[in-house]
Amino acid sequence: MTKQNDEIVIAEALGASIRIHAARSTELVEAARIAHDSCATCTAALGRTMTVTALIASDLKQPDEHVRVRISGGGPIGVIRAEADGAGNVRGCGDRMQLYASREDGHLDVGRVVGTDGTLQVSRDMGMKEPFTGTVMLASGEIGEDFARYFAISEQIPSVVSVGVLVNTDSSVAAAGGMIIQLMPFAGDDVIDEVERVAKTMRPMSEYMNQGIRPEDLIRQLFPDAKILDRKPLRWHCDCSKEHFADALAGLRKSDLEEMIREDHGAEAECHYCRKKYHFSEEELRAILERRSHAEDRNG
Ligand code: ZN
Repeated sequence: MTKQNDEIVIAEALGASIRIHAARSTELVEAARIAHDSCATCTAALGRTMTVTALIASDLKQPDEHVRVRISGGGPIGVIRAEADGAGNVRGCGDRMQLYASREDGHLDVGRVVGTDGTLQVSRDMGMKEPFTGTVMLASGEIGEDFARYFAISEQIPSVVSVGVLVNTDSSVAAAGGMIIQLMPFAGDDVIDEVERVAKTMRPMSEYMNQGIRPEDLIRQLFPDAKILDRKPLRWHCDCSKEHFADALAGLRKSDLEEMIREDHGAEAECHYCRKKYHFSEEELRAILERRSHAEDRNG
């Protein structure tokens, strides 16, 4: 078995009446696990969310366009956020990532950490003034079903969503992947029947990925007439920077900045997405304060 990289494959099948997006996201989810030092259940919850977010973003044409997903189910993980761009860069986080829950059969209980009392929100930022945003109530908190519900209700596209993360006993990620099968508007009943039949035969995505099956081969295995339309890379990447946090500090109240200088002699900011820490010295804070007063002079 040769070493595989994460990727997204986009295809059409059944005489171009369905569109398929499939991803191998093992390295992406493992990178998120390391960044957040997350337990198995939270790794699965965030990993599933990031994988589907990346699949949605794979349709974006410009690298600076983004898809942002926010899941707030009232469960102990808090709010899950995932963000992906058209170039395959993905990042994500949850409020609390150390909560383990499993079902009696030993399977990770993702629905329990996510919760079911809340919403799934998808925003597509296409570089316009306002992003397109759709929100639905969660179906089960298991992520896959919730996205299927989002596509059906918010975008009116009947979709099969399969997404999974397999975690090793040492908490590292063994395999992760996802697939979205969507009916084109003109798909007839025979197509719907065929998609339903195939969906019933499908094994969990993480199982296929763990067997080393490439997304492309899986698509052909499920739909022999599939035509591959596009391939895209997929990687964990956070574009946060010290400048970004300096801007955020500059937005604070003057008295707060002065207090940081006087009492803490510096400040530390942490990126929620990648957990990278940025330290600001007393000097740097003074410079931010200075810049802030200049801005106030101009505005005032
Ligand atoms: Zn970051």
